[in-house]
Parts: sequence; structure tokens; C-alpha cells
Amino acid sequence: MSFTFLRELPSPGSIRETYPLSAKMTAQKARRDAEISAVLRGEDDRFLLIIGPCSADREDAVCDYASRLAPIQEEVKDKLIIIPRVYTNKPRTTGDGYKGIASQPDPEKAPDMVEGLIAMRKMHIRVIEETGLTCADEMLYPENWGYVVDLLSYVAIGARSVEDQHHRLTASGFDVASGMKNPTSGDFSVMLNSVYAAQHPHHFVYRGNEVTTTGNPLAHVILRGAQSKHGNTVTNYHYEDLIRLYHMYHKMDVKNPAAIIDTNHSNSGKQFREQIRISEEIMHNRSVSPEIHDLIKGLMIESYIEEGNQSIGEHIYGKSITDPCLGWEDSKRLIYDIAEMV
Ligand code: PEP
Ligand code: MN
Repeated sequence: MSFTFLRELPSPGSIRETYPLSAKMTAQKARRDAEISAVLRGEDDRFLLIIGPCSADREDAVCDYASRLAPIQEEVKDKLIIIPRVYTNKPRTTGDGYKGIASQPDPEKAPDMVEGLIAMRKMHIRVIEETGLTCADEMLYPENWGYVVDLLSYVAIGARSVEDQHHRLTASGFDVASGMKNPTSGDFSVMLNSVYAAQHPHHFVYRGNEVTTTGNPLAHVILRGAQSKHGNTVTNYHYEDLIRLYHMYHKMDVKNPAAIIDTNHSNSGKQFREQIRISEEIMHNRSVSPEIHDLIKGLMIESYIEEGNQSIGEHIYGKSITDPCLGWEDSKRLIYDIAEMV
């Protein structure tokens, strides 16, 4: 057998008990979840802005970043619900590279899953307690959901996971917003089938248990652009893409048809400054098309304190060690611009 079993991990329940969220912030999370749900159901006209670094690799810089968002959230609260991106799990195209704080609490040291799960939970708690903002993360490993179930307000299923049955069925048991990304190939039907799967009840095996789920009516899509068979970047945020999605969505038996647009990744071709123009184009198209206005409920933007990215080991505070991000001053201006255009 080529597996080596190193140790059993503490259960989600025991880690939640050791590192609890305060009662005050548990109530705050319930309020935010209800507001986000109302936006996705079309009962609240505000716009979701999921914004933050590609990966949340260090707690101090992530908390500093989120604490800059908090006063802006207060100023734009009639227009936007800001959801910090605190991504603790990173999918990797080839399997090589940094896999997020949940695997490697120190990006320069060996993986440590116990310390990683604790670091993931502590960082989310610290952001919530210091800012009152509950966050978005990616569900890369469905079995880790229980470690953050009481903390996350938004869960994304990544482009490389969205076709996987276990991810889809696990998302059918969430009671928070779940964004299903288009796969890297760009196929909208794979993404919409994933929403259908997540919105319906299921019966399956989860962490060694037989379970059933209710289905999650808040499952919706995220457009992140694609790669062609020739390896070129193919965007999917333009007017025609959104109208095509609107018609495909409305042919399906799903609730609350909604889409978030990821402005980086294959939509910007990782030309991170393009996120400004892309956001403005989407907001403009929302203003000229009632269909697009109803469908597009938010944006996902990769942003951090310092613009661009760096290699692991450069140690520049607040600069991404994975995908390049918009810097703070541009991000701040863009948030106000988006709020104006809602
Ligand atoms: C990300 O959000 O950083 C990411 C890796 O996204 P995707 O799954 O769209 O590649
Ligand atoms: Mn990224």
C-alpha cells in the first residue's frame, strides 16, 4: 500500500469547540447570511462584492486588508454587501505549489494539516471579530466543511472541482450561498448541471456517515472565463455571454437564477488591472439590460494591499503569493465606482 497514515485529525466538532465564534458575531453572521440570501433571491436590490486576495496566506495582512474594507462597507451599505475573500485552500493546476493556509500554515515549511485547520479557523474568526464582515472561501476538500461551517457566508466551488459529484452533493447541504464556477473548459452546461445538483436533495456518504441533504436554493453560478483547446484565454463576461447564460438558466428547473462574475482568472487573463475595466463593463451592461440586471448579482475581484504578486520567500507584506491582485488604492476607488453604478 502506498499511503502512509500519519495521524488521525481532530474532528470538526472538537476544533469548533476549542476555537468558538462569539455569540455576538454568530448573530451578526446570521444577519449577513439573510441579507446575502435576499440578494440572491431577488428580494434585495443590493449587489454582492466578493473581494480580497487570491490566497489568504498570512493572518496579519489579511486582517489588515479586511479592516480597510469594513469602514467602506459602512459607507456603501445601501448599495453593496462586501464579502472579503479569505481563501484558505488553493486548487493547483498540476498539483504542484502552495495549497493554502489550511495545508501549509507557513508557505515555506512542510504541510501540517492539524496546524493548518486551526490556522484556517482562527483567521476566519479574527476577521469576523475585528470587522463584523463574514467571508467567502473555496471548498476544495468537502470533508473540511465542518471546520468552518459556522463561519463562512459564501462558499465557492472552483473551476477544477465543479464537475465532481462529491463537491456538488456536499454543496446541496449548505445553508449559505454557494457559487459554482464554470469549468476551465468554459462549458456552461457543466456549470448549470452543478447548480441543479446542488439545489436538489441527495443521499450519500460523507466523512464515513450515511447522510441526506435538503438541496441548496442559494446555489448559483460564477463566470471566471475559460481556456480554449488551443490554450488561449476565452472571456465570458461580455453582453452576449450573459444573455446566453440568462436563456440557458431559464430553460432549467432551478431556483433563483443568479450569477457572480469573477473579473480575474481567465476573464482578465490574469492582467489584474483589467479587472477595473471589466467591472465597469459589467455594471454598464446591467444598466442597459433588465435581463442582465436581474441575473448578475455580484462580482468577485482579486485584490490585496500591494498590487501584483510575488514569489514565496520574497516576504512583501500584503502582496499575493498566488495570482496577481489589484492594489489597495485602485481597489478602493473601484469599490466606490461599483457602488455608484449599482
Ligand atoms: C481562485 O479563485 O483563486 C481560483 C483558483 O479560481 P478558479 O477555480 O476559477 O481557477
Ligand atoms: Mn486566484
